[in-house]
Formats: sequence, C-alpha cells, structure tokens
Amino acid sequence: MTKYIFITGGVVSSLGKGISGASIGKLLQLHGFKVNMIKFDPYINVDPGTMNPYQHGEVFVTTDGAESDLDLGTYERFLDVYTSKANTNTAGDIYQTVINRERRGDYDGATVQVIPHITDEIKRRFVALKADCDISIIEIGGTVGDIEGLPFMEAARQFQLENKKEDIFSIHVTLVPYIAGAHELKTKPTQHSVNKLREIGISPDMIICRTEHALDESLKRKISLFCNVKEECVVEALDAPSIYYIPEALYEQNVDSLIIEKLNIKPKKKFDKTWFTKIKSISKFDKKVKIAVVGKYADLKDAYKSIDESLNIAAAELNTRAEVHYLGAEDKNLVEKLKNYDAILVPGGFGNRGIEGKIKTITYARRNKIPFLGICLGMQCIVIESSRNLAKLEGANSTEFDENTKYPVIKILDEQKNIKYRGGTMRLGNYKSEIKKNTLAHKLYKSTEIEERHRHRYEMNPEFIKVLEKVGLSVSAYHKRVLPEIVEIKTHPFFIGVQFHPEFASRPMKAHPLFKGLINTALKNK
Ligand code: GLN
Repeated sequence: MTKYIFITGGVVSSLGKGISGASIGKLLQLHGFKVNMIKFDPYINVDPGTMNPYQHGEVFVTTDGAESDLDLGTYERFLDVYTSKANTNTAGDIYQTVINRERRGDYDGATVQVIPHITDEIKRRFVALKADCDISIIEIGGTVGDIEGLPFMEAARQFQLENKKEDIFSIHVTLVPYIAGAHELKTKPTQHSVNKLREIGISPDMIICRTEHALDESLKRKISLFCNVKEECVVEALDAPSIYYIPEALYEQNVDSLIIEKLNIKPKKKFDKTWFTKIKSISKFDKKVKIAVVGKYADLKDAYKSIDESLNIAAAELNTRAEVHYLGAEDKNLVEKLKNYDAILVPGGFGNRGIEGKIKTITYARRNKIPFLGICLGMQCIVIESSRNLAKLEGANSTEFDENTKYPVIKILDEQKNIKYRGGTMRLGNYKSEIKKNTLAHKLYKSTEIEERHRHRYEMNPEFIKVLEKVGLSVSAYHKRVLPEIVEIKTHPFFIGVQFHPEFASRPMKAHPLFKGLINTALKNK
C-alpha cells in the first residue's frame, strides 16, 4: 500500500520545498521505506529545457533524458536514487497530453474541462510511481494562491477525498518573517496562506516554517491555533550551514515519527542514524581550494546548482572547503581575475555569448598548468582553443557560433539538422562511452566503460581528431567508436573536457571522479 505526502508552499517562492521534501524522504528512507518524489510545476512550458536559467535555475537531466526542474537533482542527491520522466511534470505537459487525447477523439464528444479532465490526468500522475515505492512525496511547485497552481491543488483535494485519511499526509511550507524594527517574528502570512489552502479544501497536517530565528512555544501555539494544526506539527526550519543537516534538524522535531504515526505505518528497520554522523564527518575542513567557474550566468549559483554541489561534495571528501566563484565569461578583466584560483571549470551552455572569454580562460589554464575541467560546451571550447592555438587552424569554431567557419571543429549531427522544435530534441540522457587505457580519464574512472548524461546538439567533428591528436589534444573516450566523449592533454597535470554532464551524478559521500580529480590536483599543485 503506497502512502502519499503532499508538499505545498505558501507566502513566497524559493522556500526550499524541494529540500524539505527530500529531507523528509531521507528520514523515511533511513526507517527502511522505499521513497520516491514527484515534482509538479504549474507553468505552461512542457519542460524547463527551453527556459532561461536566470528564471528557473539549472535544467537537471534524468538518465532517461527528461529535462527537469533542479529539485530532481536535490532528490537524487539526498535519496541516492535515479529519477526519471515520471518524476517530473508540468502544467504544459499535462495539458498537452489531454489535448492530444482530445484530438484523437478519445473523449467521445465530451466537453474537455479542467475538472475533471486535467485533474484526472494530474491524479493519474500522482500515482504513477506507486508500484515501486512505499511512500510517494508529491511536491506542488509555486505558491498557494497562484492561478496556475489551482488545478494541482484541486487534484490534491480530490485525491484526499478518494483515499483514506491515513494514506495521505499534507505539509505546507511557509515563511515566518522577522521584522527587525519590531524585533518580532510574524505569523500572519502563514495564517493567510493556510487559510487560502483550506479554502481550496486542503487542511495541512504539518506546517514547516522557514525562519531566520527560532520559533518559541507561544509562536508555535499561535500558528497551531490559527491554522488548525497540532502544536507538535508546527515545525521550524532554520537556515542551516549545509542543506544536508536539515534531515537531522527535522528528526530532532520528530517530523518522521509524526508522519509515520498519521500514515499508520511501521518502520521497516531500526532507524539508521549513521547518515547524520557521516554527513557531519565530511564537513570538517582543514584545507581550502579556490575554484573559478567561468560561464554565462556570473552571479547565479542556481544556474549551476549541480556543478556547485559536485565541487562541494568532492572537496568535502578531501577534507577541503571548496570556495567556488562564478565569473562572467564576458568580464573584461577575466584573465587577470583567474590568477587567484587553484582550479578552473567551464560549464555547459548555449549560444555565442561569452565564448571568446571561455576560450581565453582555457588558453590561460592550459599554458599555466592550472587544473581544468570543461563540461559539454566547456569541452567544445577546449577543442576550439586547441584547434586555433595549437593546430593553428585560424578561425576554427563550432557551427553553433559560426556557420561558415573554415574549420568546423564542432558541428551539428546530420540527424539534428532538420529539427524544427527546440524542446526535448537534443542528445539527452544516458549514453555509454568507451574509455581508452593509459589516459587520465581511465585513471579517474578506473573503468573502460562508463555511462553519463548528455544534453547537447553539437559534437566534436571526427575529421579533426588526427590533427588535434598530433598537437597534443587526445580523445580518450568515444561513444560507439565514433563520437568523441572525452578529450585531454597528457602533458598537463589535469586538463580534461567531457561532452557529457558528470555533475548530475554526484552524491554526498559518493563524489564524482572528475570533480574529485580536479580538486585533488589543485591541492597537490598548491
Ligand atoms: N551548445 C552546445 C550544444 O548544443 C553545448 C550544450 C551544453 O553545454 N549543454 O552542443
């Protein structure tokens, strides 16, 4: 029997519903339950693949090639599971499914409406993963009161009605702001938000209050009284030094026991507290490395969320604090600024902006033997840089940036040429590569066959491999023996570019070898 935990948000967005959900999922997992998380985003985009990272943060890619919300990355890292297309839903994709059905004539002449047709499709997706989990955590994106979120709330209300009380637990995450002038925490926004939720017909079982200051008993009592939630179910979520400390903070407030009690389930094993201690043990730093990430979105950490996590996770395993700075590739003083860093990374990206800055960054890292990792577009820039500066192929470029370049060292695949629709049409998800022995890639992965996630349209042009290998840029892994997947420079302490996205595969205490290698070399170089 699968149980369901619904997570909604109130007052403001960006309260970390995903982190709260993932933390609760972790606690339940430590009790032996099989947990899955499903995200519902109320926007009309079919997926976030075409959305600007400035608005939406990074696009997380699942192994089966879904372009999804970055919360799926949080789920994967907390729960150490793999998510898939079924874990990510948007209003756009739900409406598209219903409209396609209507066009096929499947509704038999009925008027197709939000209730019941859209809500039925949402409910179908609530239970999509029930076969392989004990508890499904369903996070509804956005904030209560948003017009576009209404069908999702309505579907959750219906779902409540159609299932037993003990099968559903509803959590509302809100903000309890601190008003400095009055030296006071304010509960009114939470009261309004819960009222809004109750108008829809959902009464939360628990309220998680994001706050900068601890909530005292009287505040908890007030929230309990006004919001019709038991006092012990008013939970405080203070900002934590690491998001991985949040499960323990919730555990200390009995969040897991309260959920288990209401859902009327029995833990499947003795609670395993060692995860808390292990997480703490990797937060003791006696060293520091400074890493520059040179990309298009200079001051937006969320645009490179998984990269940030990967660097921190890898550094932590080496008792090192990663000080990661995001430098804009168009910054005029870029090369000067790079002198302050122990390692450099050029992440993935799309479009022409900042390309020349990324190439200059690579020249600097290559010449000065600074540990360097290029990811996806970052690898493509390595190929362009080596072509221009080592192989002297003047004007070498990717056809993404210069269609008429004399030396198209990165080019679009024939099968990608005639694509009209941009969404979901890239090389997406897991692909295998074969790694050559006696390469840095092999030393790091300790394997000759790997599988990593992709999200790109352009590829290194195989016609240029020979010339580039002659000048020192070698291909150390291929997909199906033809498409280059990893390039490296053997005479450099750590200079490697990968066509895929290793950042999606890092988990706490399971650092990814590429990130660990980068930081390890940076430490040795210091
Ligand atoms: N823009 C490049 C491509 O489409 C790289 C994509 C990426 O870095 N994710 O191939």
